[in-house]
Amino acid sequence: MNYDFKEGREVALKLDKADKMRPFRERFYLNEGEIYMDGNSLGLCSKDAEKALLRVLEEWKKYGIGCWSEPDIQLFSYHDYLGKLLAPLIGADANEVTVHANTTINIHTSIGTFYKPTEERYKILVDNLNFPTDRYAIDGQIKLKGLDPEECVKVVKSRDGKMIYEEDVVEAMTDDVCIVLLPSVLYRSGQLVDMGYITKEAHKRGIIVGWDLCHSIGAVSHDFKKIDPDFAVWCNYKYLNGGPGTNAGLFINKKHFEKESGLPGWHGNKNETQFQLKHKLEKSNYAGGWQSGTQSVLSMSALEGSLKMYAEAGVDNLREKSLKITAYLMYLIDTKLEKYGFGIGNPREDNKRGGHVALEHDDAIRINEALKSEKVIPDFRYPNVIRLAPVPLYVSYEDVYELVERIIDIMENKKYEKFENKIGVTA
Ligand SMILES: *Cc1c(COP(=O)(O)O)cnc(C)c1O
Repeated sequence: MNYDFKEGREVALKLDKADKMRPFRERFYLNEGEIYMDGNSLGLCSKDAEKALLRVLEEWKKYGIGCWSEPDIQLFSYHDYLGKLLAPLIGADANEVTVHANTTINIHTSIGTFYKPTEERYKILVDNLNFPTDRYAIDGQIKLKGLDPEECVKVVKSRDGKMIYEEDVVEAMTDDVCIVLLPSVLYRSGQLVDMGYITKEAHKRGIIVGWDLCHSIGAVSHDFKKIDPDFAVWCNYKYLNGGPGTNAGLFINKKHFEKESGLPGWHGNKNETQFQLKHKLEKSNYAGGWQSGTQSVLSMSALEGSLKMYAEAGVDNLREKSLKITAYLMYLIDTKLEKYGFGIGNPREDNKRGGHVALEHDDAIRINEALKSEKVIPDFRYPNVIRLAPVPLYVSYEDVYELVERIIDIMENKKYEKFENKIGVTA
């Protein structure tokens, strides 16, 4: 979309005034003077998340073991409740979504569920730009079957090291491929992959499709009724602000409810018979059947508060602002930062980009460090990308304007030169 932005701080202030998402900012803990651009790595804490966490703590204090089963609380099925709150974000049915462990474990359980290699069909198709944990989990599952990842993983290589070309993925869908697992949005370039097209082409060839939504959930709205993938995984601590290490999301398409879980455990048993403690698992026939053991409820509770905020804001409204505020950031980069050697590494088209801007510079490591010393929180991704995520719930247009002013100051005064050209710990 063409927004026709103009220069000047007063333009940013005007955009903020007209921003429908603006009231949500007051509900977050922001540090005075700091510009937080790293919500795609760890979202900020909101008062809503804090309140939900403290409420669950009170329930534990008051009820002890009763907190699992008290009719108004029922922490025993808390994952179902959170699944119901998450489902609208991806356009799934409530019983197709559950909250469990972390993304990596959910890849293990999904691949464990769907990977049934035969002589003819034994390959899992991946790309070479995905986050590495996805690959570790896939390789691990292949080894558990006594097979060799060298032979059983087929990698689609990016042509340019930045983007996945959908037609290359489709071309790689040969008869020996049984599963495709790809990221919806690439963590570095921010490319939004055409999930509908890839899923459709895979299904035509009898291939199971899984998506890793870590960088799209909460930033991009998905219509799973239309895309119809077989499974999906994601973490809830990035754009969804569920808190460090909060439990992750898992989508299992209802057509697979009868399948066995890849990592079975007693919490995947049907509620009615779980406490009969039989040695034969009677798996629940909905996404909750993919639960393993007792959940870390306190870690999940902050997510409850945060997800209710999402319901209030509406994910389509958030996407609308995210597209606009990232477009504003790109406009400022184009008009003010090009002369310092900066470029934009993410796709420009609205339907091809996620929630962050990939700012590229040959000196990105040192500039990233200088930004941190100027109270801007971005993150660096090898080899030359500074990721900037103006998260629509709590980042203002003025923040974006001020961010670019601080970058100009760093470049004009060569402030980055006092930092070493080496990578620190940037989770
Ligand atoms: C952040 C991220 C993960 C994180 O996995 P966890 O097991 O939840 O730590 C996985 N995949 C992708 C693509 C990510 O961006």
